[in-house]
Order: sequence, then C-alpha cells, then structure tokens
Amino acid sequence: GEGEMLSFVVFGASGDLAKKKIYPALFALYYEGRLPKNFMIYGYARSKMTTEAFKDKIAESLTCRLDWSKQGGSDCAQKSEEFFDRCVYVAGQYDVAADFKALDAQMCEDEKHVSAVKRVFYLSIPPSIFVPVAQNAARECQCKKGDTRVIVEKPFGRDLTSSRELTAALASELSEEQTYRIDHYLGKELIENLTVMRFSNIMFQPLWNRNYIRNVQINFSEDFGTEGRGGYFDHYGIIRDIMQNHLLQILALFAMEEPASLNAEDIRDEKVKVIRCMRPIEMDNVALGQYKGRLTDGRKYPAYLDDETVPKGSLCPTFAAMALFIDNARWDGVPFLLKAGKALHKRQAEIRVQFRHAPGNLYGERQGRVEHVTNELVIRIQPDEAIYLRINNKVPGLGQRLDQTVLDLQYKSAYGQVQLPDAYERLILDVINGDKRLFIRNDELEAAWKLFTPLLDKIEQQKIAPELYPYGSRGPIGAHYLASRFNVRWGDTD
Ligand code: NAP
Repeated sequence: GEGEMLSFVVFGASGDLAKKKIYPALFALYYEGRLPKNFMIYGYARSKMTTEAFKDKIAESLTCRLDWSKQGGSDCAQKSEEFFDRCVYVAGQYDVAADFKALDAQMCEDEKHVSAVKRVFYLSIPPSIFVPVAQNAARECQCKKGDTRVIVEKPFGRDLTSSRELTAALASELSEEQTYRIDHYLGKELIENLTVMRFSNIMFQPLWNRNYIRNVQINFSEDFGTEGRGGYFDHYGIIRDIMQNHLLQILALFAMEEPASLNAEDIRDEKVKVIRCMRPIEMDNVALGQYKGRLTDGRKYPAYLDDETVPKGSLCPTFAAMALFIDNARWDGVPFLLKAGKALHKRQAEIRVQFRHAPGNLYGERQGRVEHVTNELVIRIQPDEAIYLRINNKVPGLGQRLDQTVLDLQYKSAYGQVQLPDAYERLILDVINGDKRLFIRNDELEAAWKLFTPLLDKIEQQKIAPELYPYGSRGPIGAHYLASRFNVRWGDTD
C-alpha cells in the first residue's frame, strides 16, 4: 500500500468524551486532509450496538470546519460519509483478553495489504479501568508492523501515591515513549502561542521577571455547576480537576526558562524545573469555596449539595484560589495567583500579568492627577481568544488628562472568522506525528503531585469547610482577602 496506515482505537467509544471531542476532532482532521490516506477508526466499548447505530449517535456531533453553505458547495455530507466508511464499532469487555484478541484480528485483517502501520489507542474510559485496558491492549493489540501509541486521559491519580501506582502499572505494559498523557489545555491556541510570544518578541523578553512583573493571575471559571455529574467530581474537587493539571501546566509554560530547542524533551525539561522550584503551598495562602443555591428572577439555581450524585454534607471545594511562589532568581517573591471555580458568573480562562508601576512621579498621584492604571497584559484563552495590553494614554486634545486604554489583539478580527481548531485536533494530530511537546512527561506529573498532595491531604484531614458562594456569583469573599494580602486585585472581577 501507499504510505503508512493508521489504525486508531477509541476505548470507551460509547461515552461522552468520544462523542463530544474525539470523533469530532478525528473528523475535522480528516476533513482538512490531515489524516493518512489509509486509516481505520475502531470504537470499542461494552455497550451492544451495531456500527450503524454507533455512527448515528456520533453523527450528531460532527461539524464541518468551514461554513460550506458559504462556499456554495456541500462536500460536508460527502466527507462525513467517506469518514464513516472507515469507522467500525466493536463491542467487547475491558477485562477479557479474548475480546482484545478479536479486535486485534479484525485490525490485522484490515491492515493485511499494507507494510507499515501505526496504531493509536485512546483510553477514553474511567480511571478505574485504565490499567486493565492498557494491559489488554498492550498484550493483545500491539502493532506488529510499526509503532503503538497510547493516549491516556486525566485523572492521572488523585495524589502522589495513587499517581505513582498508576504510572508504575502503565509502565509495566507501555514504555514512556509510547505513553501520551493528554492535558487538553496544552492544545489550546493561546497556550501554544505563549512560547512564541515570550521567546520571539524582544519587548516581552526583558520584562518577564520579578523586576517588572508584580503578580501573575491564572483564572478559570465555569458558569455552570456539576449538573448531575457530581459523583465523579466529588472524589476529586476543583484543585485536582483544574489546578494541579491545567493551571499548573499553564503556569509552567508561562514561567519556564528558555528551552534549548522546541523539541519535546527540551521544553519538558524546563517545565519540570520550574515546577520543582515552587515553594510548598501554605494553607494560609489558599481560599476554598462551594456554591450554594440561588433564586433569581423566579429561576432556581441548585446548590452543589443539591446534586443527587454528591454525598450529603460534602466539603468538596468547587472553587479555590491560591498564591503560589517560584523560588528561583527570575520569580523570587512574585505571587502567582491561581483561581478556579464552577457555577460562577461567567465562563472564561485567562492569564493576567500585572506589571509594576512606572518609576518616577511625573504622572503620579502626588501631582494631583488621577490614579493611573497598572499595565496589564491579558491573554484570554477562551472564549473569544485575545491578547491585550492595558496602558495609560493621554486623552486626545487639549490638556494633560490620562486615561487607560488597550492595545488589543482580538483573534476574530485579526485572523478573520476562521474557526480555530479544537485542542483535541491539535493533540491527536501530534500523537499521530509522534510529537510529545504538548503531553505530560512522568517526572512533570510527579512534580505536580508533590506540590499539591500535602495541601490536599491537609484540606481533607482537617476537614476544612469551604466558604459558600451563590451560584452565578463572582465566588467567595475569601478570594479577595487572599489577593489583598499580596496587595493584588483580581483583574477579572469587573
Ligand atoms: P464516561 O462517558 O463516563 O465513560 C466512557 C465509557 O466507559 C462509557 O461509555 C462506558 O462504556 C464505559 N464505562 C463507564 N463507567 C464504567 C465502569 N465503571 N466500568 C467500566 N466501564 C465503564 O467517560 P467520558 O466522559 O467519556 O470520559 C472518558 C475519560 O476522559 C475519563 O477518564 C474522563 O475522566 C476523561 N475526561 C473526560 C472529559 C469530558 O469532557 N467528558 C474531559 C476531560 C477528561 P460501556 O459501558 O459501553 O463500556
């Protein structure tokens, strides 16, 4: 056959992530001509379903990247038909080796005319079955005509011990080289752009340190609660679900030293170094919250504890804010304020860099002039990707009045209406190409858990009660007290 064939297996294909993210990403890659000419996609799960029924279920969530109605053509329907011709559904148990053997036999049959094959296994399953599935896949379904790669989804354990156990169990079946730990935040456009912004612009490079930066904020908020999925969430809480992984990864990319090259190992070396320089987190530097119900305009928004899947009286935080410090020469004394919460007033993720005041007193308050704004660089990760810089500017016209304004890069206006690829597209493509730059290495994971586990243990052992905040609000007051202790105001509260 021509070129290398790709055999892609989605374990847990009947689930939510497969339907919402994995298949749409695979289809988008196909639509854009990014998949190898020769490929097959196998959906594997226990649910009994025909391939036809499976395709119908998946079809609901596939979309074509470009608005084809505007192009006057409709290759969308044709493309999805072609795509579905390569999709098969295979029902099987996760702990029965014979079922995996049968899957392997089917793949071998489809691969028999080609000499080079790459197999990618996506473990889109609950953590309780990561190990048996990895084991069976590794033992029964390794590729005989090329590489086998395995994508593992979070959660990678729930503390240092369980994470080490998982790493060891996976390592006994798969090499680190084969293992791709996905953190979909690393696949987001503006996170990939962080490295470009920092290391290719001379005006940012010299400012990126404690001499010019007062504090850095990384904010994540969702405007909905657990809505019936609280059972899973309650076992983890917001710190494990969002901060230990996504926000810490963003922080590491933001704060790392310049890597020797853009190779995966060079970048991951720098990330792990910066995480290892972080100071243990003190309970005093943490504020916890949990959302309570609220009645507004006749509509009732439920409390976290109203979710029937949540244990009665749970102290699980649905919100956390914390100040972290990196004890190295670049960042000594600069607070990194992380904040994440569910059921807040908006859905957003962003990085805010607050700079020090301009020295001197030319436009200072003592001259009787209005207080001027802190220079602030904002990188909005989602929604409406943007990078903007708040600056002081003279109000045009006579007089010397200052006003704050923004240098504003809105992706929508700068890059047109082109829809940005979903994070999963970028990451799946990277796996196919063997690029591990945006995946978590085992030592990074270890360092991340070392940082967070003592804090998580303390919260659980001391049964620290979260401060209640109303559904749809800006979060608990405790977060503001925390920030003010460092002379900081959260920039996202207006
Ligand atoms: P899911 O829908 O709960 O599970 C996927 C499939 O696994 C189910 O369709 C079910 O298929 C099987 N399954 C569920 N519970 C099982 C159990 N106790 N024992 C054996 N099999 C079971 O999960 P998901 O939301 O798709 O997520 C998949 C993975 O991605 C999880 O590790 C999750 O933590 C992670 N993740 C999900 C999201 C998201 O947005 N959903 C985001 C980030 C990470 P069958 O019964 O048909 O076998």
